[in-house]
Amino acid sequence: MESKRGEINFVSVVVPVYNEEGCLQQLIDRTLAALDKCGKKFEFIMVDDGSRDSSVEIMRKAAESRPDQVIACILNRNYGQHSAIMAGFSLVRGDLVITLDADLQNPPEEIANLIAAAEKGNDVVGTVRQNRQDTLFRRWASKLVNFVAMKTTGVDMCDYGCMLRAYRRRVVDAMLMCNERSTFIPILANTFAHNTCEIPVQHAERAVGESKYSLLKLINLQFNLLTCMTTAPLRVLTYFGVMAAGCGFLLSIYIVARRLIQEEHDVWTNGGTFTLFAVLFFFTGVQMIGIGVIGEYIGRIYTDVRSRPRYFVEEIVGRKSGAEDPQA
Ligand code: UDP
Ligand code: MG
Repeated sequence: MESKRGEINFVSVVVPVYNEEGCLQQLIDRTLAALDKCGKKFEFIMVDDGSRDSSVEIMRKAAESRPDQVIACILNRNYGQHSAIMAGFSLVRGDLVITLDADLQNPPEEIANLIAAAEKGNDVVGTVRQNRQDTLFRRWASKLVNFVAMKTTGVDMCDYGCMLRAYRRRVVDAMLMCNERSTFIPILANTFAHNTCEIPVQHAERAVGESKYSLLKLINLQFNLLTCMTTAPLRVLTYFGVMAAGCGFLLSIYIVARRLIQEEHDVWTNGGTFTLFAVLFFFTGVQMIGIGVIGEYIGRIYTDVRSRPRYFVEEIVGRKSGAEDPQA
């Protein structure tokens, strides 16, 4: 059993793999070397996310040559990076779980630094990529995500995009209890974290092949990220509605007042064009508010359907284990 601030005895490394035959062997060799060096008990879990190349054979061979230390989990088809990591999480036995990418963008040699940072009492250890090797679009997109994530989780991290991260086992267990289908692990973890920190790590270019994320997939991911964190976009409609209805209302007061005060009719009060605008604004606004209110309920349904655990008890002091519940 881990203790809250205690030492870590058993490390689990989880890596999602999708068509990575070009660099997989190197990844296995480097990760095992790093884990051997760190002097802890460990397991290295690779999850094949429906690869169509020889990744599975490479993983199988590695698992057979070091049973119980290297584990290959083979999914029947492609479910996406984060679902693959979740599948790996369901198998972990360690008290610290480290995730990294298979493409060697995250150097496995950093594992020792992550363990050291977690041993200082952190539940989640994030990483900040030094000399980040990514496009401008990705950097801007991640700025937006970091901002929203900070608002929703209350944890201020400056780099959510790097998957080289460490999570205490209890945070992983909490994530496994979340039922939502689309999720983004680094942000989800922070909703259950007490102490977090970020450490600088090296970041390399992809070792071989292309990123598995096309521009469209990336845009989808950003939308997923925003909607998995917050239902605030639903409220935007209500705000617009209130603004439109308010404008319509003020405009109609203005037109009526002008008509009463002025003797001569002018362009505002004659012909009814502006009156029509005022009425239109008002009713469009009311409709938007209506949609916004429906959205608000949908947001609640969404939150309930995800059925995330409401809280986690870390420890109960003063109760004998197995004591009978008198109410039962
Ligand atoms: N990956 C996966 N399933 C997918 C896409 C990616 O398991 O559908 C894995 C991939 O093998 C790699 C990690 O997720 O280990 C990150 O993918 P990639 O390097 O293509 O993403 P990027 O670094 O460009 O964000
Ligand atoms: Mg990559």
